[in-house]
Amino acid sequence: MQELETRLAWIEYHGTKDECARAIEELETVTSAYHYHQSALAHQLEKEVFRDHEERGVNIDDLTRGAASTVAMARSQDPSTYRGKLVSYRILFEDTPNLAQCYSRGEYTEAQIEAILSPLKKIDAEYRTAFDDFLRQNPDMFESQGTRQIRDTVTKFTLQYLEDDQCHEAEDAAQKRHIRFHRDGDLIRFSGCLPVIQGVALREHLRHTSFTIKQHGDPRTRSQIEADLLVANLVSGSRKKLPLALSLNLIMTDRSLFLGDKEPAFLEGYGYISSQIIREMIAGPPIDGEVSYRNSTQENYLEQLDTVTEIVRLYTAPGDSELVAMDSKARLFPEKLRAFLRVRDRYCRTPFCNGLVEEADHIIQHHLGGETSAGNGDGKCSLCNKAKELPGWDEYMALDNPHSIIINNMGMRYLSKSPPATGLVHQPFPQLMCDSKWIQGFRRRLVQHPG
Ligand SMILES: [Zn+2]
Repeated sequence: MQELETRLAWIEYHGTKDECARAIEELETVTSAYHYHQSALAHQLEKEVFRDHEERGVNIDDLTRGAASTVAMARSQDPSTYRGKLVSYRILFEDTPNLAQCYSRGEYTEAQIEAILSPLKKIDAEYRTAFDDFLRQNPDMFESQGTRQIRDTVTKFTLQYLEDDQCHEAEDAAQKRHIRFHRDGDLIRFSGCLPVIQGVALREHLRHTSFTIKQHGDPRTRSQIEADLLVANLVSGSRKKLPLALSLNLIMTDRSLFLGDKEPAFLEGYGYISSQIIREMIAGPPIDGEVSYRNSTQENYLEQLDTVTEIVRLYTAPGDSELVAMDSKARLFPEKLRAFLRVRDRYCRTPFCNGLVEEADHIIQHHLGGETSAGNGDGKCSLCNKAKELPGWDEYMALDNPHSIIINNMGMRYLSKSPPATGLVHQPFPQLMCDSKWIQGFRRRLVQHPG
């Protein structure tokens, strides 16, 4: 500890930017390991509170009363979320021992652990343990992922065990739709909750339209244009419906769409969603024996949307989970290429970024000779696309399939993989693993690349 303090004190005054970056990275691991101990202590404290109340026969209706507030106070944090956190710790230490071990080694941050545990609350203990085993076998499944992507991946796992309940949950949630107006200084704050499809449709419409308007040179910011569009559509026009000249991108396997398979669908701009809900929305009547989303929905708001379903085929490599091409008719013109990158990457490819794909980026910049192709292209949020121009930031493609980028920045190195198109993790060809060209190429590139 003393040695660390001395070393840090030196770097804080004399360190190069590489040394500072690496020290920050190292401290993140140490901090996470300490957070692990705080979780373990909180869990033990909760058990002791439980035992004490039980022995004395008090607080029988709520045997852990006071535990959450005590832990929150000790951590100088707002107690309102701590009941939920104690539930997370119970899952962590009782159902997912492998995850707990990884946390103790500082492999996940506190926020990442919460992103993993939160969706697991919705399924039974036996499935949580199954998830933990799966993670043990695929230790790098969350490598370089942001909390949103992690939560999405775990949700994809839990949805397989939740299908029917999920339909009812979506129905209940839709009943709670509302909008509110509050005064906020010299502005009116406008907030609300919409059912998933309408909410995503509205957001995508505003995003795409504002992008187009901005591209034509409008001096307003994207946010200002979006606010103006919303008011213009609602107030100036007298349309009963939202203008639905927009498309929602939904990615699901042919098995899920046509054969009732349970692999969840991915709704761009939202995340994973039960395949049953989507199947009924776009494919008509429910499959026998399954709970119907359409029939269980009291109000026919879905009927108010005029939808046209267009199916675009996306291909995965044989026996594999990687997206390799779009429909053969779709030649990779820039517009199509952008769409492909959005579908393939889903989230900004900068490690740990929670942003959605907003811009198509050249991994090796165009002015450095990088070509405009799916291999040399990746999806980035606009913030990261600018950050990448910093001197010392260097990216290159390490593998085509699964699409993998190595990012070197100030002495740190990260691997960013596109998410698997189907399933939870990238599936290698087992018979080719050891001697395949791409594995060898990958190793070679890792060794050879400077930095
Ligand atoms: Zn980003």
